Amino acid sequence: MLAPGSTIGILGGGQLGRMLGLAAAQLGYKVHIYAPDAESVAAEVTAHHSQAAWDDEPRLAAFAAACDVVTYEFENVPVDTVRFLSGHVTVRPGMAGLKIAQDRLEEKTFVAGLGGRPAPFAAVPDRAALDAALAELGAPAILKTVRMGYDGKGQARIVAPADADAAWEAIGRHAAVLEGFVTFAHEFSVILVRGIDGEVRFWDSPVNVHEDGILATSSLPPPQIILDQQDEARALMAKIAAELDYVGVLTGEFFATEDGPVFNEMAPRVHNSGHWTIEGAVASQFANHIRAVAGLPLGSTETATLPVTMHNLIGGGIETVPALLADENCHVHHYSKTAVREGRKLGHATWVGASPA
Ligand code: AMP
Repeated sequence: MLAPGSTIGILGGGQLGRMLGLAAAQLGYKVHIYAPDAESVAAEVTAHHSQAAWDDEPRLAAFAAACDVVTYEFENVPVDTVRFLSGHVTVRPGMAGLKIAQDRLEEKTFVAGLGGRPAPFAAVPDRAALDAALAELGAPAILKTVRMGYDGKGQARIVAPADADAAWEAIGRHAAVLEGFVTFAHEFSVILVRGIDGEVRFWDSPVNVHEDGILATSSLPPPQIILDQQDEARALMAKIAAELDYVGVLTGEFFATEDGPVFNEMAPRVHNSGHWTIEGAVASQFANHIRAVAGLPLGSTETATLPVTMHNLIGGGIETVPALLADENCHVHHYSKTAVREGRKLGHATWVGASPA
């Protein structure tokens, strides 16, 4: 058990680090953010900040020496960075989940090996392989880069085989995976926390609505089909967490289909579809992630009151904050990012036990 006053290091300096930092402070910990970017909305609310490159070993060693345990909020932290740090300080969760989640092909193969059901997929290492993959899976399909994809980036839809050239160009001719298009009723996520003793707890699964590949809203209660498929999806995520000897919050995104839950992808971290847990659950995903990596007993993941609605404030959406502040049932979160860009997540708003006005 990490003593109060200890320092938790976080790799990555965005809004997830900011909300983890606030949760850590509530439990009496100091947080040290390590990130390469000049702007860090996490460092604004935490005690210490190292702005340095992921491969700067002297700075990483100094960071490790200053921390009692290290975690991450960004899934594209290079695995080599975590490997180097692991030689100096405990990193939770460790490298295994990070490595798998960074490679869509490895991720789908791993999950299928555990009995999970990803969308039908085929490896597309080069342009020629795309034709073969399209012949195998048929159109419509989605071409996704193997690495560095998030918020719908690095993806192209293929409606008919004639779109293959355009799709290959659109994803920058990177090694990719072709996925069969899944016809789903709804999308949902399973968010779990696993403690250092292997105890697993789940938050209720929200229904997630994406716009342009970016999460727009997460709401509870979800439609019945999600309630019916939640247990099967949970069982898979618990298996994944156990296999990785995972410590902390782990997220799985699923499609609810006529044939049961189809695994889309996982994130080895707290997740946007869990932001509602700050006000909507007894212990939030951020609080429980800190508890897990600090070796504390886990808090209750029970939903406080229904309904719950979380809206992301994306790009110009941040300008609705004054109106949201006038809604007395709305919990407003502003991430204090300076640049407003289309598609950038700048804040979120949550309603608990009430609906948006
Ligand atoms: P991803 O970045 O893989 O989470 O994809 C972003 C969004 O694109 C998902 O949340 C879905 O709305 C949609 N999507 C991704 N893959 C598929 C698929 N195989 N079939 C249908 N829709 C998909």
